[in-house]
Amino acid sequence: MVKAEGVHKSFGSAHILKGIDLEVNPREVFCLIGPSGSGKSTFLRCINHLEKISAGRLYVDGTLVGYRQQGDKLYELKEKEVAAQRRDIGMVFQRFNLFPHMTALENVTEAPVQVKRESKTVARERAQRLLDRVGLGDKSGHYPSQLSGGQQQRVAIARALAMEPKLMLFDEPTSALDPELVGEVLDVMRDLAEDGMTMIVVTHEMGFAREVGDSLVFMDDGVVVESGHPRDVLTNPQHERTKSFLSKVL
Ligand code: ATP
Ligand code: MG
Repeated sequence: MVKAEGVHKSFGSAHILKGIDLEVNPREVFCLIGPSGSGKSTFLRCINHLEKISAGRLYVDGTLVGYRQQGDKLYELKEKEVAAQRRDIGMVFQRFNLFPHMTALENVTEAPVQVKRESKTVARERAQRLLDRVGLGDKSGHYPSQLSGGQQQRVAIARALAMEPKLMLFDEPTSALDPELVGEVLDVMRDLAEDGMTMIVVTHEMGFAREVGDSLVFMDDGVVVESGHPRDVLTNPQHERTKSFLSKVL
């Protein structure tokens, strides 16, 4: 579903991603861990072309992200074509980024109506179903300010799902939450995983990675240091850098 081949990313002279190779299979929960500044968010942002990679190739569902290949030449896609690619990828951030002046239902309805030109009736019905699914069916008329952080994050997940993405990217979706609210968000993600959604999850929640993850990558300083099944990497890390990182977070 996602394939990275020698992906590099620099910001000016700062070389941030230094040749990332990895593959995420359909229906897989792929966890990405690593110290602050190692390039995890940058990598996620490259997947939906919020950042342009400096070298290498990135594919989503077999399609090159941001470029069209003709022969061995690459042509940048137009903004419209990039937007079309992005539509299939849902993203949930650390901060919930809900529209503050819209109710939960309106937040979830917005993109399908504005971007996909869906009818309001259809979009609203789906939004209500999605809010039910994340356990907020009775909060659809609430504004973000009337919801807890955990509830807002669940609305944010419902909003991403409303576009019926084939891939979901999560960038530390629980790290801005009070500890007692983390579980309700992880439960929604677990449910999504059981439903077969392909997910890339940047997280510090090692329990979630171990129980729900199918693969885990430890990234440091822009390279993949170690990868494998979460249970193996977390209980039996091979590299010194992984050991040292895990000793701090576990
Ligand atoms: P954290 O765990 O703190 O979220 P991260 O692994 O997600 O860290 P990134 O946010 O990907 O790390 O940042 C990696 C490096 O890239 C950092 O040194 C950051 O300062 C730099 N960086 C990220 N975005 C930009 C940008 N737009 N311009 C310049 N440098 C950037
Ligand atoms: Mg980050």
